[in-house]
Amino acid sequence: MQSVPQQYPEPPAPVRAQHVGGELVLVLDDRLALVASQSEADIWHVVEHHRCTCKSFRYREQCRHVALVARLQLAASLRS
Ligand SMILES: [Zn+2]
Repeated sequence: MQSVPQQYPEPPAPVRAQHVGGELVLVLDDRLALVASQSEADIWHVVEHHRCTCKSFRYREQCRHVALVARLQLAASLRS
């Protein structure tokens, strides 16, 4: 019996950081993105399913990161 060559899934594609209005953003997919914190060095806010890890989101359930990421994800989905 002939062995079937192993099928590997497509390797992930590299992600290009986007500079938007002074923010540094990594959009990983249509649910997940990272935004560099401007107040804390080496901290990235995780924006997932329109929720964010920053203080502003915790207090007010909204922040500029969520809005920014939503705009970039929409733009990306319109391109593809
Ligand atoms: Zn935020």
